[in-house]
Order: sequence, then C-alpha cells, then structure tokens
Amino acid sequence: MLTHALHDVLQRLDNAARAVQRPVPRLLAVSKTQDATAVAELAAAGQRAFGENYVQEATVKQGQLNALALEWHLIGHLQSNKAKEAATLFDWVQTVDRIKLVPALARYRPADRAPLNVLVQVNIDDETSKHGCRPEEIGALAAAIAAEPRLRLRGLMVIPIPHPDIERRRDAFARTRELFDALRHDHPDIDTLSMGMSDDCAIAIAEGATMVRVGTALFGARPAKTPDPTGHSPA
Ligand SMILES: *Cc1c(COP(=O)(O)O)cnc(C)c1O
Repeated sequence: MLTHALHDVLQRLDNAARAVQRPVPRLLAVSKTQDATAVAELAAAGQRAFGENYVQEATVKQGQLNALALEWHLIGHLQSNKAKEAATLFDWVQTVDRIKLVPALARYRPADRAPLNVLVQVNIDDETSKHGCRPEEIGALAAAIAAEPRLRLRGLMVIPIPHPDIERRRDAFARTRELFDALRHDHPDIDTLSMGMSDDCAIAIAEGATMVRVGTALFGARPAKTPDPTGHSPA
C-alpha cells in the first residue's frame, strides 16, 4: 500500500515539474509519528531520505532500522541542548536558524562521518513564529556554516504560514527562491531549496523547490492529537 502511495507521489512530483519545465525535486519522506515498519516498507520500495521532527523519536527509529542505509534529515526545531545528538544521528539538519547552533553542530559532528549537511531555515512571512531566521540574517549564518569544515552548507528551508488558500503560499515560496538565488552568489555550491509539503508541493515546485517534504500524502493522516511541529496553530 505504501509502495503505491510512493509511486503516486513520485508521479505527482514528476507531473508538477514537467508542467513548469523544472527539474524534478528530491522527495523527503516525512516519517514523524510513523513506526519503523512503515519506514522499512518505503525503503524497500526505493525511498532513501526520511525526515524526522524530534531527536528522541528519531533515535528509537534509527536504532530499529540500523541495517538499512537510509539518509536522515532533521526538520523539526533544534534546541541547543540537542545539538550533539542531532550532529551524530542525522545526515542533514534543515533547521539551523541561529548562530549558536553552528559551532555546536560542528564540534559534535563525528570525525569519521561525512560533513553534516545544513540548511538555513528562514522565517519568510510568519511574525508570530519564533522559528527560522529573518531574511537579513541569512548571510551571516551561511558564512558561519561555510567556515566550518565539519559542516556543509546546502541551501535554505522554509515553512510558510499555512494559509488555507494554498495559492496564498505562492508568494512566500517565490520570495524564498529569490533569497536562495541571492545566497548562491556568495556560495555557488549550494543546491537545495527545501519547500513544499503534501498539499502545496506543486506550487513550491513551480516556484523552484529542489526538495519537497511529504508526510500525509505518503503515509496517510497523522493522529490528530500530535502537536503541530511546524509551530503553527491550525489556520
Ligand atoms: C510534518 C512536516 C512536513 C510534512 O507535512 P505533510 O503535510 O504531512 O506532508 C513537512 N515539513 C515539516 C517541517 C513538517 O513538520
């Protein structure tokens, strides 16, 4: 069943990219609240990159899936006191939004692992959210990351306000894309713009996403009482 859902989603991404003549983005399967069995099923169907919101939950799941060579992304808010675990457990951290995290992640990235891939999370339009840096802070954060040999700056990540009218998210995606293009002037090697979820990934792709983060469309709806890790209350 999950195999089916995976093929559907990949087809949707393909169609969305083709419609706007853009490259097909990478799919990050958001596996928060899903058990290891579900992850293993998607992995068997060929999916390799998985996103988790909580360090604790990821620790358990990764332990159970140890034998599979999966790529793990942290997409939830990162507390400073979890930097060591994050630097050890994950291949990517998509939520670096303040300078304090940078030396901590670099210090704890194990020497025998590849450098930790890092995205700067930008707060593009949500004054009420404490997560994500302001656009004018991107440059300094990116420079700090790029200066750390144990970290590898890959690009930007954004979670726009989830307007019920998804067309209203387009502008936030477009502005993030402009910030990404500007950042690439100083850091020509960056290649990742992580934006778009189950319901708005086609719009994000049209606005230049190179990676989309999809949970519900792959695994089905999550239990309702799970707190929204994006930090938004329902719109
Ligand atoms: C949960 C989550 C997603 C996936 O959302 P869906 O609507 O289930 O596709 C993507 N990004 C982040 C940061 C999330 O927390």
